[in-house]
Amino acid sequence: MSSTTAGQVIRCKAAVAWEAGKPLVIEEVEVAPPQAMEVRLKILFTSLCHTDVYFWEAKGQTPLFPRIFGHEAGGIVESVGEGVTDLKPGDHVLPVFTGECKECRHCKSEESNMCDLLRINTDRGVMLNDGKSRFSINGQPIYHFVGTSTFSEYTVLHVGSVAKINPAAPLDKVCVLSCGISTGLGATLNVAKPKKGSTVAVFGLGAVGLAAAEGARIAGASRIIGVDLNAKRFDEAKKFGVTEFVNPKDHDKPVHEVLAEMTNGGVDRSIECTGSINAMISAFECVHDGWGVAVLVGVPNKDDAFKTHPMNILNERTIKGTFFGNYKPRSDLPSVVEKYMNKEIELEKFITHEVSFSEINKAFEYMLRGEGLRCIIRMDA
Ligand code: NAD
Ligand code: ZN
Repeated sequence: MSSTTAGQVIRCKAAVAWEAGKPLVIEEVEVAPPQAMEVRLKILFTSLCHTDVYFWEAKGQTPLFPRIFGHEAGGIVESVGEGVTDLKPGDHVLPVFTGECKECRHCKSEESNMCDLLRINTDRGVMLNDGKSRFSINGQPIYHFVGTSTFSEYTVLHVGSVAKINPAAPLDKVCVLSCGISTGLGATLNVAKPKKGSTVAVFGLGAVGLAAAEGARIAGASRIIGVDLNAKRFDEAKKFGVTEFVNPKDHDKPVHEVLAEMTNGGVDRSIECTGSINAMISAFECVHDGWGVAVLVGVPNKDDAFKTHPMNILNERTIKGTFFGNYKPRSDLPSVVEKYMNKEIELEKFITHEVSFSEINKAFEYMLRGEGLRCIIRMDA
């Protein structure tokens, strides 16, 4: 594969978003070869995360079209650009929306995964090396999304946004670790860090929230309270160790008061995985004073503002936030894949749907209807 296509433009199928909120169109695109410190991947499986949907809808976000979305995926390196030494054609990899250059202060700090060069940037639609796109249709550039653009049979990424993984790992399963599941798991295990026996609230029971609940179960939480506006989520969530459910719609009082009553003053930890500003504020206000920690994971709208009374903070509550569960993508993701290989985490239960690439719009419909968790899109079908 590499010997015949390396250095050449590849023509392949990609799902292009021409306009906000309009179904994607499968088009033949040209994918330029990788430049310095870039790699070109053949994507085998991709899945849909709510972040793709927010930026495709572009309701509270900066619109940038035409664009190729997609960031949760698994693939194989097709060719590498100049200067790339730690990846070679044939390597099995997971692309990640927030990269790791391994050189900057953040990459060198044990506490941060917010790489100066490659941290998530939802407004940029071009590659860093030359400020241009690698995708085009008849000469018209098509923008990238979060440096990954996995809704294409071939895509070009900065080498720092690519994690090399165990080639024995099934890409149709571990692709969900490239965003949502690692994010939720890490938000709990790396950021909220609940103690054994504690009470954890999870706001939003999609794949990210249920992965956060798995993290709470692994950490030994004794009560895991799931909060969602969609009652359909509760049945699914029982498989993930969620012990109690609260639907804010069933109560007249604010949900943080409902949780405080259920827990004698507040939960020990809460993890917000909704993207709703109201849920973010509730997730903070529902933690116990003195020790409670809230972690925000959901992606807000561009104009959202977080409002709470400062006394809530003075009373010794902590608020934190995270991208990708604080995992460093290249350094840490391979070991998360090993957790799946060693059966410490289960991925199958997160995968509720599967469609062929030509049916990619169905994956959007499932997510918009709040149906299921992750839908795997098979690129070869
Ligand atoms: P999803 O749509 O599958 O799940 C979100 C759930 O939140 C839904 O079940 C929905 O009913 C529920 N919800 C919405 N508003 C609510 C409210 N006010 N109160 C309670 N529940 C509410 O989405 P997902 O793919 O699991 O992603 C969850 C969030 O995490 C999204 O905002 C996504 O953009 C974000 N995300 C962040 C990161 C990161 O690194 N920080 C990574 C991946 C995803
Ligand atoms: Zn995502």
